[in-house]
Amino acid sequence: MLFAHDTECSLVAAAGLVNTAGPDREGLPDVAALDDFVASHGWTGRHEHTDGELVEVRTLRPRLRRIWYADTDEVVAIVNGLLRESHALPQLIRHDDEPYHVHAVPRDAPLATRMAVEAAMALADLVRMGELSRLRICDHPDCDNVLVDLSRNRCRRFCDAGCGNRAAVSAYRARKAASHP
Ligand SMILES: [Zn+2]
Ligand SMILES: [Zn+2]
Repeated sequence: MLFAHDTECSLVAAAGLVNTAGPDREGLPDVAALDDFVASHGWTGRHEHTDGELVEVRTLRPRLRRIWYADTDEVVAIVNGLLRESHALPQLIRHDDEPYHVHAVPRDAPLATRMAVEAAMALADLVRMGELSRLRICDHPDCDNVLVDLSRNRCRRFCDAGCGNRAAVSAYRARKAASHP
């Protein structure tokens, strides 16, 4: 494990959230889609199932996406801004079956606020460890999904939407076409 377990989960969840906003598709079209997203990343705590909450979560995505393109100083400015706006106050807590871990806003804070703060806290770890290069954009030419490379040898190139397979298939076809002109 490279980072603390909750840090890794938060980074993966942040990337997953960013990737729900594609250039020509909306991955969070309605409250039900947000419910699925929340369940798939194991979010607990306040969850209102309202259009207002959905809009707040969608609005967070471009701010988080910006982090994948930013240099260190800009990441720091974004992270500090998110923590300040949310009045973050780190506290060790224990809930459900999890061991002690840090929450920087209460569990009854709005979902989008908690998503922002969890992402910001995890990104703060990345900055402190000099590991921002773990944040990458998918290498597939037709894809602009973001990813977090948590591999030991920093070899991850593609997002988990199947781009690695797509790239392998195109490379295979290109080789075949080249050998049978
Ligand atoms: Zn928790
Ligand atoms: Zn991709």
